[in-house]
Amino acid sequence: MKLFISADIEGCAGVSFADETHKNETCYKKFAEQMTKEVAAVCEAAYEAGVEEIVVKDGHGDASNIDPLSMPPYVVLIRGKSGHPYNMMYGLDSSFDAVLYIGYHAAAGSPEFTLSHTSTGNSRQIFLNGKIMSEFMLNTYTAASLDVPVILISGDEAICDSAREAVPGITTIKTKRGTGGATYCVSPAKVLEELKRKTKEALKNVEKCRIALPDSFEYMVSYKDWKKAYQMSFYPGREIVDTFTNRLKSGGWLDVVTAHCFVVY
Ligand SMILES: [Zn+2]
Repeated sequence: MKLFISADIEGCAGVSFADETHKNETCYKKFAEQMTKEVAAVCEAAYEAGVEEIVVKDGHGDASNIDPLSMPPYVVLIRGKSGHPYNMMYGLDSSFDAVLYIGYHAAAGSPEFTLSHTSTGNSRQIFLNGKIMSEFMLNTYTAASLDVPVILISGDEAICDSAREAVPGITTIKTKRGTGGATYCVSPAKVLEELKRKTKEALKNVEKCRIALPDSFEYMVSYKDWKKAYQMSFYPGREIVDTFTNRLKSGGWLDVVTAHCFVVY
């Protein structure tokens, strides 16, 4: 069995403030170490369950958060950004059996986690076929386009609940929940224990997590800044909805993923 892990930092144990996710801040280091531990815990549990091959994509910021010197021998870690529109899913192809997400977070506009956003802080909200689009949704459709099921997500309560709605068979590990600017954090020891135990459970539910990709897409971004909305309305195929909002309609998932890589950055 071959697994793909996409990892972010905002949903890892304890992380509650933006500076804790920024590489040049002194408080960042211990959270990057925790992200590394969470990824390693999932890899170890999967290996114990018989998985032979694991590719990990570091998916936060410039993608240099996970310590490459702490990865077990059966893991390949993809660091840095290739420029490919798959971004946090770069490296995934149809040869993989399943995808797991570590440290994911609520979508832009979600009031349930103080660090909620989708890919960047430029959008107020993004809608995909009328539903709020999170990084979970974006990346899960990329996996579905390759017919690879997403079997596990760890992160804040809001993203875990919306993941359950989209993929009822998915295994979730809730690491925190927020109210306004406050965050209730589960202890790192408990998060690591749950990641190990639930990874083994998730590996038994691969088929339950397979979802169909929609036939067509309406991808709509509502920006915080109307000037950004004006500029991005010139991306090929984009229509202006209102002063703050543009949309793109397409039958091809790669068109949406590629547009997303340009218009919210
Ligand atoms: Zn991130």
